[in-house]
Amino acid sequence: MALREILLVPNPVLKQVSKRVEVVDDDLRVLMDDMLATMYAAPGIGLAAIQVGVPKRVIVMDLHRPEEAKQPRFFVNPEILWASEETAPYEEGCLSVPEIYDEVERPAQVKLRYLNYQGETVEEDAEGLFAVCIQHEMDHLEGVLFIDHLSRLKREQAVKKVKKMVKAA
Ligand code: ZN
Repeated sequence: MALREILLVPNPVLKQVSKRVEVVDDDLRVLMDDMLATMYAAPGIGLAAIQVGVPKRVIVMDLHRPEEAKQPRFFVNPEILWASEETAPYEEGCLSVPEIYDEVERPAQVKLRYLNYQGETVEEDAEGLFAVCIQHEMDHLEGVLFIDHLSRLKREQAVKKVKKMVKAA
């Protein structure tokens, strides 16, 4: 497994719409393994392929509690089949927008369909942090960042802060 560089705002690659994966093969599993290692190293709980510069509809995630064993999850070509009318706010962050956290309101529950690490079709209901995280990551596949859900002012401030941080590093 190799660590990959995580792209930060305002890198224009993050605005790209990712393409559907044709087949889940060993090459794709190398990408997924690298993404997972990169996410754990960051550390983070979710990562979309575009965040490491690969415009494919692939997401990795691990929502295990600190005291639990790792629970890596892989989502290829995820689709939302249903979303609840009820919404819930959550203070989100993003590895591509480091050290910025703000509240985003999203559907509280969603029903998903995706291909897993083996390329099998899975349908699953998500709520709580899982629902927040998968919707956040699926936004990345459309070139949308969580700061795009905030006011223009907040978004510009966030990008400015990240730029400053990168310069200081
Ligand atoms: Zn993100």
